[in-house]
Amino acid sequence: MLRPRVVFGISPLLDGLCIMGIIIMIPTFSVLLWRDPGTVREARRRPLAAAAAGVDAGDGCRGDEEDATSPYMTIRDVARGAVPQEGFCGFCEIVMPDRTKHCRLCESCMHTMDHHCLFLTKCVARSNHRLFLSFVFVLAVAMAMFLANVVVYVNATYGELGTAAAIARATLRDALVLAAATLNAATLVWCIALLKYQVALVCVDRTTVQNLMFASPARARGAPCRRFSTREKLVNLIAFCLGRDIGAADGGAPKLLV
Ligand SMILES: [Zn+2]
Ligand SMILES: [Zn+2]
Repeated sequence: MLRPRVVFGISPLLDGLCIMGIIIMIPTFSVLLWRDPGTVREARRRPLAAAAAGVDAGDGCRGDEEDATSPYMTIRDVARGAVPQEGFCGFCEIVMPDRTKHCRLCESCMHTMDHHCLFLTKCVARSNHRLFLSFVFVLAVAMAMFLANVVVYVNATYGELGTAAAIARATLRDALVLAAATLNAATLVWCIALLKYQVALVCVDRTTVQNLMFASPARARGAPCRRFSTREKLVNLIAFCLGRDIGAADGGAPKLLV
């Protein structure tokens, strides 16, 4: 008869790490679900010098005076060529700040949008990108600890793992544990691949959206494809980990994510 067993209790160290991972994951996931990813609530601000000088006298049309004193850019700036046409969001009707993209699923402009996550059903953008990667990292560690626990457990219960007899006995008696371990292993591979991809992008100061844009020459519109030294990559990674805006030390990446 198949009888699922308890995996915990075999290795106190692995148990502790596993439980710690779960304890960290639950609040992290809750905050991820609750926190605003970086919805843009106001249009791009005018450059300080231009705002102080009250430039943009306009063409004498109604609204020009108000426009000239406003700290925010409007569609008039787009019409005058002060902002490229791609910088205007027709859905939100604002001049998008730098590194912004409109998400049609969230129906909002997102600051430094990385991608729209279908698991979270929300965007991963400026305010939750770091938290998202932290969550995936903790998830990967917890799953690795669970897998290690399963290996220790099977070894302790059925003898050396790897022998056909041990695997057959474990499969018969602990089918659920092995099924969970298999699912964990598959998810762990996905998490590691995702982390590797994301860290590589952070190092070169790019978001997923930008990377997809670069992959399509037709959409890249001649944006410079800059090479980063190892030191620069490290600086970008540290800046990201410290919570600074991705692209703060930008040297050539396009600012508009459209
Ligand atoms: Zn928008
Ligand atoms: Zn979205």
